[in-house]
Amino acid sequence: TPLRRRADLKMTAQTKEAGSEAKEKTFEFQAEVSRVMDIIIHSLYSHKDIFLRELVSNASDACDKRRFLSVSGGSAADNLEIRVEADKEKKQLIISDTGVGMTEQELINNLGKIAESGTSKFVEALGQGKADVSLIGKFGVGFYSAFLVADKVEVTSRSLQSDKTYRWESHSAKNYTVSEAPEPLESCGTRIVLHMRDDSEEFLEPFRLEQLLKKYSEYISFPIYLWKSRT
Ligand code: ADP
Ligand code: MG
Repeated sequence: TPLRRRADLKMTAQTKEAGSEAKEKTFEFQAEVSRVMDIIIHSLYSHKDIFLRELVSNASDACDKRRFLSVSGGSAADNLEIRVEADKEKKQLIISDTGVGMTEQELINNLGKIAESGTSKFVEALGQGKADVSLIGKFGVGFYSAFLVADKVEVTSRSLQSDKTYRWESHSAKNYTVSEAPEPLESCGTRIVLHMRDDSEEFLEPFRLEQLLKKYSEYISFPIYLWKSRT
């Protein structure tokens, strides 16, 4: 009977859901991270553009680390580069690098916790309304500025030490998920997809990105390529 068939379908869907949940692990941000994110969003919204400086500087640090490890390990590290791609149609800004990448555990440790002891000072300073854009880079919390412009952030990464690719994803200041990436990266590096907020669409405009990259890439020693969507 049709009724029976419907019930069967429902069961199949549930089993599927349970299966994918098992592969995806949900973690709560360390309380201090949630606090930092909250403060960043509320006090730095008039300096939103700093997210690009922070993410490009992380990409550059990752390339530096890979170059250093290659030199000491005697292997080659060519095509160290940073890419910025704007997809206006999907409202996505993608920042990728061919740097050292992160393992599953590094994604959890680096993007879910704050190791720096200066963090409480950062929280204190910003909490008192002394919003200073230079503070964010100083205290090792620059990554979280991504949430100034994006309501969902996806980080796909493959470590130099591993042949597996993992995906870190978050759309709230409370928690994030980590799973094996459906589309593995061909070699080591990190790809960050920012799902842009409606009020941050200016950062999908090539001229705006070019302007910011010129301003911030002065000290970056790796090539930065700006890709525009075809539309
Ligand atoms: P900081 O750069 O001052 O350490 P961030 O909040 O900007 O603080 O980044 C936190 C950490 O996340 C970095 O120290 C690094 O270990 C890791 N990370 C962030 N972005 C990348 C990236 N593109 N590639 C590799 N590791 C990264
Ligand atoms: Mg940084």
